[in-house]
Amino acid sequence: MQRRQLLQAGSALGAIGLMSGCATIGGKGPKVVVIGAGYAGATAAKYIRMWSEGGIQVTLVEPNDSFISCPISNLVIGGSKTMADITTPYDNLVKRHGVQMVKDRVASIDATKRVVKLAGGSELPYDRLIVSPGVDFMWESLPGMNKPSAQDKVLHAWKAGAQTVALRKQLEAMPDGGVFAMSIPLAPYRCPPGPYERACQVAHYFSKAKPKSKVLILDANPDITAKKGLFTAAWKELYPGMVEY
Ligand SMILES: Cc1cc2nc3c(=O)[nH]c(=O)nc-3n(C[C@H](O)[C@H](O)[C@H](O)COP(=O)(O)OP(=O)(O)OC[C@H]3O[C@@H](n4cnc5c(N)ncnc54)[C@H](O)[C@@H]3O)c2cc1C
Repeated sequence: MQRRQLLQAGSALGAIGLMSGCATIGGKGPKVVVIGAGYAGATAAKYIRMWSEGGIQVTLVEPNDSFISCPISNLVIGGSKTMADITTPYDNLVKRHGVQMVKDRVASIDATKRVVKLAGGSELPYDRLIVSPGVDFMWESLPGMNKPSAQDKVLHAWKAGAQTVALRKQLEAMPDGGVFAMSIPLAPYRCPPGPYERACQVAHYFSKAKPKSKVLILDANPDITAKKGLFTAAWKELYPGMVEY
C-alpha cells in the first residue's frame, strides 16, 4: 500500500469513529498533532493534508511566527543573502492546506491518554503524534557557556534567526586584520558540511571587505567530516592564506 492510500484509508476509518476516542477539537476526521514546524514537521503537516485529501485534521504546534531556513543561512552571514530570502510565513500551510497552526510550545506528552500539553496551559488530543522539535544545545556540557550572558556574546548562529543577524553584524563591526575563530564539535552534529561552508562564506566576505583578516577553524574531529576535497580546494584557491584549519 502506498503512503497516499494509507492516509486515505486512515481518513475513512476516522470518519466512522474507529480511530478516535479523543475529545473533538475543531473539524471532523482523525487528528494528527505535529510538534515543531521545521523542515520535518511543516512538510509532514502539508503532505498529510494533501494525501488524505483534507480528511485528516492536522494541528501544527510551533512557537515561532515564520519558518527560517537553516540551509542558505550561511549566505546571510557571508552577506550575499538577506533574512527575507530565508524567511517564509506559515500562512500558506493554513490557507492552502488547511493546517491548524497553534502558536505555543509543547511542554509534555501523555502517550497513554494521547494528549499533548502546551506551555500556555491548553491540551490537544491526538490520534497520531509526530514529534519533530529538531535538536538543541547541551549547554551544560560547555563550561563557561551555560549562561545567557555568554551565549549572547559568543554566537553560534546554528539556528537561523536572530543569531544569524547578530553574527553578520559582528563580522561587519570587526576591524580588518581581525580573526574569526570557529569551533566544530565532534560528529554527529547537525549538517556535517555546515561549518566548512560557513568558513567559506566568511572568507568570501573578508576577501572582498577585510582582506587582512583570517578565518581560524578549530575542529574537534580527526579530519574534515564532509566534502573535504571541495572545501580544501576552495580555501587554497579562492582564499589563499586566509583560512587556517
Ligand atoms: C547553517 C546550516 C546550514 C544547513 N544547510 C543544510 C543544507 O544545505 N541541506 C540540508 O539538507 N540540511 C542543512 N542543514 C540541516 C537542516 O537545517 C536540519 O537538518 C533541519 O533544519 C532539521 O529540520 P527539523 O524540522 O528536524 O528541525 P528544526 O529545523 O530544528 O525545526 C524544529 C522546529 O521545532 C520547534 N520546536 C522545538 N521545540 C518545540 C516544542 N517543545 N514545541 C513546539 N515546537 C517546538 C522549533 O521552534 C523549530 O521550528 C543546515 C543546518 C544549518 C544550521
